[in-house]
Amino acid sequence: MYYAEEDYIKLIYELAIENDVELIKTSDLSSKFGYTDQSVNEMIKKLSQKGLVTFIPYKGIKLTETGLEQAIRMTRSHRIWEVFLTEKLGFLWQDVHEEAERLEHATSPRLVEKLFDYLGRPTHCSHGNPIPSIKGPTQNPARLSLLSLNQNESFKLIRVLDHKELLTFLNKNQINLGDTIKVVEKMAFEDLLKIDVNDKEMIISSKVADMLFGEM
Ligand SMILES: [Zn+2]
Repeated sequence: MYYAEEDYIKLIYELAIENDVELIKTSDLSSKFGYTDQSVNEMIKKLSQKGLVTFIPYKGIKLTETGLEQAIRMTRSHRIWEVFLTEKLGFLWQDVHEEAERLEHATSPRLVEKLFDYLGRPTHCSHGNPIPSIKGPTQNPARLSLLSLNQNESFKLIRVLDHKELLTFLNKNQINLGDTIKVVEKMAFEDLLKIDVNDKEMIISSKVADMLFGEM
């Protein structure tokens, strides 16, 4: 399988989990990749001929069992490499995605499992996404966003979107997984939130708050 095909399969997998849906629209893929609908459709056709995705006209696409297996293998490799890069090589969390993106394709299943054991069998990547297991169900990612909290509610930050600018912003403001964040004030008109994190008040946009997930 080519890298591009593997990336498509992985993205279909990730979008379905992120949005908690069974079927993905091709337009979701084109907007994520920045490709035209036509080129996405061609790729989907190719993948369905290979038995990796099922296309249901006017409804969307989903992975076949084989496609799902491939997606889990890739995602697992990607997230284990991220842990290695941050924990063992001191990479910042905003810098690991591209490295892991290259490494995931080149890693044999044997090496992935060796790495997994070496790292003490981690359960989550550096961004708080669960590392899927080859067999058996995968834990769902935290889906409660900071934006959905009411004023004066707080949660523990356990997952952030793997988005470079967001991660850089969080790093600059010393916001990390495990921190408790409280919504001090919601300023709906300005589209801003005043939050308290580690006893420090700051203002963030709704856009940022919608990329942070946790548990109460
Ligand atoms: Zn990650």
